[in-house]
Amino acid sequence: MKRSGDIASLFQKYESKKKACSQSPSVAAAVPEEQMEEQEDGQDQDRVIEENATPTPMPPNPAPIAQKEPIYDISRLPLDPGERQPIANYPVNDQDAVRRSYIIKGPFQPYAHQFESRKIRNRDRQFNPMWFYKYPWIEYSIKKEVAFCFVCYLFAKEKTKKYAFIEGGWRTWNRNDKLDLHVGGVTSAHNAAQERYNLFMVPHGTIDDKICECR
Ligand SMILES: [Zn+2]
Repeated sequence: MKRSGDIASLFQKYESKKKACSQSPSVAAAVPEEQMEEQEDGQDQDRVIEENATPTPMPPNPAPIAQKEPIYDISRLPLDPGERQPIANYPVNDQDAVRRSYIIKGPFQPYAHQFESRKIRNRDRQFNPMWFYKYPWIEYSIKKEVAFCFVCYLFAKEKTKKYAFIEGGWRTWNRNDKLDLHVGGVTSAHNAAQERYNLFMVPHGTIDDKICECR
Protein backbone atom coordinates (compact mmCIF):
# COMPACT_ATOMS: atom_id res chain seq x y z
CA MET A 1 0.00 0.00 0.00
CA LYS A 2 2.81 2.31 0.90
CA ARG A 3 4.23 1.65 -2.56
CA SER A 4 1.08 2.88 -4.37
CA GLY A 5 1.04 5.97 -2.14
CA ASP A 6 4.57 6.73 -3.17
CA ILE A 7 3.65 6.37 -6.81
CA ALA A 8 0.71 8.75 -6.38
CA SER A 9 2.89 11.37 -4.72
CA LEU A 10 5.53 10.97 -7.39
CA PHE A 11 2.88 11.51 -10.04
CA GLN A 12 1.69 14.63 -8.25
CA LYS A 13 5.25 15.88 -8.17
CA TYR A 14 5.61 15.10 -11.85
CA GLU A 15 2.38 16.88 -12.76
CA SER A 16 3.23 19.99 -10.75
CA LYS A 17 6.69 20.06 -12.33
CA LYS A 18 5.06 19.81 -15.75
CA LYS A 19 2.74 22.70 -14.88
CA ALA A 20 5.64 24.81 -13.67
CA CYS A 21 7.39 24.20 -16.98
CA SER A 22 4.36 25.15 -19.03
CA GLN A 23 3.91 28.33 -16.99
CA SER A 24 7.21 29.75 -18.17
CA PRO A 25 6.58 30.30 -21.89
CA SER A 26 9.54 32.66 -22.29
CA VAL A 27 11.93 29.85 -21.42
CA ALA A 28 10.07 27.41 -23.65
CA ALA A 29 10.05 29.89 -26.53
CA ALA A 30 13.79 30.37 -26.31
CA VAL A 31 14.47 26.64 -26.68
CA PRO A 32 14.71 25.46 -30.29
CA GLU A 33 12.25 22.77 -31.33
CA GLU A 34 14.88 20.05 -31.50
CA GLN A 35 15.89 20.69 -27.93
CA MET A 36 12.26 20.84 -26.82
CA GLU A 37 11.84 17.33 -28.19
CA GLU A 38 14.97 16.18 -26.43
CA GLN A 39 13.67 17.62 -23.18
CA GLU A 40 10.31 15.94 -23.59
CA ASP A 41 12.02 12.62 -24.22
CA GLY A 42 14.02 13.18 -21.08
CA GLN A 43 10.85 13.77 -19.06
CA ASP A 44 9.35 10.54 -20.37
CA GLN A 45 12.39 8.67 -19.17
CA ASP A 46 12.05 10.29 -15.75
CA ARG A 47 8.44 9.24 -15.66
CA VAL A 48 9.34 5.59 -16.31
CA ILE A 49 11.80 5.72 -13.45
CA GLU A 50 9.18 7.25 -11.15
CA GLU A 51 6.59 4.64 -12.09
CA ASN A 52 9.05 1.95 -11.06
CA ALA A 53 9.06 3.58 -7.64
CA THR A 54 12.80 4.02 -7.47
CA PRO A 55 12.99 7.62 -6.22
CA THR A 56 16.37 8.62 -7.60
CA PRO A 57 17.29 12.32 -7.33
CA MET A 58 16.68 14.33 -10.51
CA PRO A 59 19.87 15.11 -12.44
CA PRO A 60 20.50 18.86 -12.81
CA ASN A 61 19.25 20.40 -16.04
CA PRO A 62 22.13 20.39 -18.54
CA ALA A 63 21.21 23.95 -19.71
CA PRO A 64 20.96 23.20 -23.46
CA ILE A 65 20.57 26.89 -24.48
CA ALA A 66 23.94 27.93 -23.10
CA GLN A 67 25.64 25.14 -25.03
CA LYS A 68 24.19 26.27 -28.33
CA GLU A 69 26.63 28.42 -30.35
CA PRO A 70 25.33 31.64 -32.01
CA ILE A 71 24.05 30.92 -35.52
CA TYR A 72 26.07 33.74 -37.14
CA ASP A 73 29.30 35.61 -36.73
CA ILE A 74 28.68 39.36 -36.52
CA SER A 75 31.97 40.17 -38.28
CA ARG A 76 30.91 38.01 -41.23
CA LEU A 77 27.51 39.55 -41.97
CA PRO A 78 26.94 39.68 -45.74
CA LEU A 79 27.45 43.22 -47.09
CA ASP A 80 25.52 42.96 -50.35
CA PRO A 81 21.86 43.77 -49.57
CA GLY A 82 20.77 41.01 -51.96
CA GLU A 83 22.45 38.44 -49.74
CA ARG A 84 21.32 39.65 -46.33
CA GLN A 85 18.83 37.98 -44.09
CA PRO A 86 15.89 39.99 -42.79
CA ILE A 87 16.68 41.46 -39.35
CA ALA A 88 13.69 39.49 -37.99
CA ASN A 89 15.53 36.24 -38.80
CA TYR A 90 18.16 36.97 -36.15
CA PRO A 91 17.52 36.11 -32.50
CA VAL A 92 15.59 38.96 -30.86
CA ASN A 93 18.41 39.70 -28.42
CA ASP A 94 20.94 40.02 -31.26
CA GLN A 95 18.91 42.20 -33.63
CA ASP A 96 20.22 45.52 -32.29
CA ALA A 97 23.80 44.22 -32.47
CA VAL A 98 23.20 43.29 -36.13
CA ARG A 99 21.70 46.74 -36.81
CA ARG A 100 24.64 48.45 -35.13
CA SER A 101 27.09 46.42 -37.17
CA TYR A 102 25.37 47.38 -40.44
CA ILE A 103 25.16 51.05 -39.44
CA ILE A 104 28.91 51.08 -38.77
CA LYS A 105 29.49 49.60 -42.24
CA GLY A 106 26.98 52.01 -43.80
CA PRO A 107 24.73 51.50 -46.82
CA PHE A 108 26.21 49.32 -49.56
CA GLN A 109 26.94 51.79 -52.39
CA PRO A 110 29.36 50.33 -54.95
CA TYR A 111 30.07 53.53 -56.96
CA ALA A 112 32.59 51.86 -59.27
CA HIS A 113 30.37 48.92 -60.19
CA GLN A 114 29.50 48.33 -63.86
CA PHE A 115 25.77 48.65 -63.35
CA GLU A 116 23.81 46.15 -65.40
CA SER A 117 22.02 47.67 -68.37
CA ARG A 118 18.62 46.36 -69.38
CA LYS A 119 16.06 47.28 -71.99
CA ILE A 120 13.04 49.13 -70.69
CA ARG A 121 10.62 50.29 -73.38
CA ASN A 122 13.28 49.73 -76.06
CA ARG A 123 15.86 51.85 -74.29
CA ASP A 124 18.94 50.73 -72.40
CA ARG A 125 18.54 51.73 -68.77
CA GLN A 126 20.64 51.27 -65.69
CA PHE A 127 21.08 52.43 -62.14
CA ASN A 128 22.42 55.98 -61.94
CA PRO A 129 25.24 56.24 -59.35
CA MET A 130 24.28 59.89 -58.77
CA TRP A 131 21.32 58.53 -56.82
CA PHE A 132 23.79 57.46 -54.12
CA TYR A 133 24.44 61.18 -53.46
CA LYS A 134 20.87 62.36 -53.73
CA TYR A 135 19.37 59.49 -51.72
CA PRO A 136 21.86 58.46 -49.01
CA TRP A 137 19.58 55.59 -47.95
CA ILE A 138 19.79 53.79 -51.30
CA GLU A 139 21.85 50.61 -51.66
CA TYR A 140 22.71 48.55 -54.71
CA SER A 141 22.97 44.77 -54.82
CA ILE A 142 25.71 43.59 -57.15
CA LYS A 143 24.45 40.07 -56.67
CA LYS A 144 20.89 40.83 -57.83
CA GLU A 145 21.41 44.09 -59.80
CA VAL A 146 18.57 45.81 -57.93
CA ALA A 147 18.37 48.65 -55.40
CA PHE A 148 17.23 48.51 -51.77
CA CYS A 149 16.58 50.96 -48.93
CA PHE A 150 19.12 50.71 -46.10
CA VAL A 151 16.95 52.50 -43.53
CA CYS A 152 13.90 50.36 -44.26
CA TYR A 153 16.01 47.18 -44.19
CA LEU A 154 17.06 48.03 -40.65
CA PHE A 155 13.90 49.56 -39.20
CA ALA A 156 10.80 48.97 -41.36
CA LYS A 157 7.86 47.31 -39.64
CA GLU A 158 6.87 43.86 -40.90
CA LYS A 159 3.66 45.10 -42.56
CA THR A 160 5.57 47.54 -44.80
CA LYS A 161 7.80 44.82 -46.29
CA LYS A 162 5.73 44.70 -49.48
CA TYR A 163 7.61 47.68 -50.99
CA ALA A 164 10.15 46.91 -53.72
CA PHE A 165 12.91 48.82 -51.90
CA ILE A 166 12.55 46.45 -48.96
CA GLU A 167 11.64 43.11 -50.50
CA GLY A 168 12.93 41.91 -53.85
CA GLY A 169 14.56 45.22 -54.77
CA TRP A 170 13.78 48.05 -57.20
CA ARG A 171 15.01 48.13 -60.81
CA THR A 172 12.58 50.18 -62.90
CA TRP A 173 15.43 52.55 -63.72
CA ASN A 174 13.26 54.63 -66.07
CA ARG A 175 10.97 55.54 -63.16
CA ASN A 176 13.26 57.56 -60.90
CA ASP A 177 10.14 59.22 -59.51
CA LYS A 178 9.84 55.99 -57.51
CA LEU A 179 12.73 57.20 -55.34
CA ASP A 180 10.82 60.24 -54.08
CA LEU A 181 7.66 58.16 -53.89
CA HIS A 182 9.46 55.72 -51.60
CA VAL A 183 10.46 58.52 -49.24
CA GLY A 184 6.88 59.82 -49.33
CA GLY A 185 5.30 62.24 -46.87
CA VAL A 186 5.87 62.85 -43.18
CA THR A 187 3.81 59.81 -42.19
CA SER A 188 5.28 57.40 -44.77
CA ALA A 189 6.66 54.00 -43.83
CA HIS A 190 10.14 55.11 -44.92
CA ASN A 191 10.07 58.21 -42.73
CA ALA A 192 8.80 56.16 -39.79
CA ALA A 193 11.78 53.83 -40.30
CA GLN A 194 14.08 56.87 -40.59
CA GLU A 195 12.73 58.15 -37.28
CA ARG A 196 13.47 54.80 -35.60
CA TYR A 197 16.94 54.94 -37.16
CA ASN A 198 17.53 58.45 -35.74
CA LEU A 199 16.34 57.43 -32.27
CA PHE A 200 18.60 54.37 -32.40
CA MET A 201 21.54 56.66 -33.13
CA VAL A 202 20.85 59.01 -30.19
CA PRO A 203 23.29 58.26 -27.35
CA HIS A 204 21.42 57.45 -24.12
CA GLY A 205 23.29 60.23 -22.32
CA THR A 206 21.69 62.82 -24.56
CA ILE A 207 18.18 61.64 -23.68
CA ASP A 208 19.02 61.76 -19.95
CA ASP A 209 20.41 65.28 -20.32
CA LYS A 210 17.17 66.39 -21.99
CA ILE A 211 15.12 64.89 -19.16
CA CYS A 212 17.30 66.74 -16.64
CA GLU A 213 16.80 70.03 -18.50
CA CYS A 214 13.02 69.63 -18.26
CA ARG A 215 13.00 69.50 -14.46
ZN1 LIG B 1 13.01 53.27 -47.08
